Amino acid sequence: MHAAPVLPEDTIAAPATAGGMAALAIIRVSGSKAFEICDKVFRGKTLAGQKTHSIHYGHICDGEEVIDEVLVSIYRAPRSFTAENSVEISCHGSVYIQRRILQALVKYGARLATPGEFTMRAYLNGRIDLAQAEAIGDMIAARNRSQLDIALHQMRGGLSEHLQALRSRLLDFISLIELELDFGEEDVEFADRGQLRQQVDALMHAIRPLMDSFRYGNAIRNGIPVAIIGRPNAGKSSLLNALLNEDRAIVSEIAGTTRDTIEEEIHIRGVAFRFIDTAGIRDTEDRIEQIGIGKALKKIDEAGVLLYIFDLSELSPEQVLSDLNMMRSRNTKAPVLVIANKSDLSHKAPDEIAKPLHNAGFEHIAFSTLREETGSTAESIREQLWNLSHLQAAGEGDAIISNERHYQCLVQSNEALGEVLQLMDNKASSDLLALEMRRAVQAIGDITGLISNEEVLGNIFGKFCIGK
Ligand code: GDP
Repeated sequence: MHAAPVLPEDTIAAPATAGGMAALAIIRVSGSKAFEICDKVFRGKTLAGQKTHSIHYGHICDGEEVIDEVLVSIYRAPRSFTAENSVEISCHGSVYIQRRILQALVKYGARLATPGEFTMRAYLNGRIDLAQAEAIGDMIAARNRSQLDIALHQMRGGLSEHLQALRSRLLDFISLIELELDFGEEDVEFADRGQLRQQVDALMHAIRPLMDSFRYGNAIRNGIPVAIIGRPNAGKSSLLNALLNEDRAIVSEIAGTTRDTIEEEIHIRGVAFRFIDTAGIRDTEDRIEQIGIGKALKKIDEAGVLLYIFDLSELSPEQVLSDLNMMRSRNTKAPVLVIANKSDLSHKAPDEIAKPLHNAGFEHIAFSTLREETGSTAESIREQLWNLSHLQAAGEGDAIISNERHYQCLVQSNEALGEVLQLMDNKASSDLLALEMRRAVQAIGDITGLISNEEVLGNIFGKFCIGK
């Protein structure tokens, strides 16, 4: 059970802008004593008497010492980010000035804020829910349009509304079951089991697309790791260069030169595909190369897509299949993209390689990093990467889950609902049904934040920066 949230009483302060020298910086103060404390350090008007959303000119002083000439903005509760009385001091961006202002604020009763504490207050004071609070963190961290779109939708409450609807359907269901419990001994069933089953099915159907959307949301947030695998000299570095259109990886004619793993990324429709150029996989006595190969194998395990490249002029279909089977045995989930490189050197008939690969369940793209049409083939490799990742369908719904914690909550809720179906099959008693249903509701509620467990909250808000 969750304890009631503890509402904050003290007043906190922190710089809201990035550290280091800049033209301006903002220091945020929030809490019941925000105006009182700021009035002790601000020379100008008395802030406590001013209207909300007003800006005032003056000086920040510590006793007789003038620290800086500033503008302060006043926000009266509940019309502020934290829903508390808040002041934003816009000062000059010197690190020294910021530190002195903070010291003065602390001297007169403020406390330095911990990371994410302003946002946590907005949450604890009921101004935003947890999913929205987390979206603010995501918005600050957004590096491209897609990341920003998901965060914005979530922050405006899009995801929360969606979940609220799910939750209230679950609650309706529970109230019916609990009515039966009230009648205790008497063997009554208010809730028609057939209809209940349909409802649970429908709920699971509604949760499923949200769970599926995590594949897309997670790809937007973290990118997709693509391991490039192939024997030495197959053309891994050259392919990477062609995909990146830049000469970043070093191309060399000495077998086994790509000893370490290099990461580069390209963006396909807002998703970062992170390429991991692995050391060529082969038997070797060289200790350093062995370490590289060990790392390469590990990258195979972690990859979201496996990109296998081989030298068409050198390898037999048996050798290619042996490599592919080795990869498959290490990573059974990731889709495999096969590139037959050096097609300019090979005299093999196209079917000679295509057939055995096709029979083993692999399709390949013939490629040459030296030919003129490299650009357009590289484009179709990009296209194929996108298709193999199955992101299209996952990103189609309105609400997209991009947060691992939210995903885990949905998984739990879905599991509990599956359990409810099982219990119904076994004609279990109403109290057991109610128990599992409550577990399902709880898990959904945890996303938008009916959480007040301090440890969990600390974990979530601790990921924010100080001053947010
Ligand atoms: P890696 O060891 O797998 O990274 O292979 P590299 O990309 O370093 O390429 C090895 C050698 O093969 C280099 O000399 C490249 O210039 C050459 N090479 C790469 N791709 C092709 C290709 O499509 N055709 C030909 N003829 N040579 C290639």
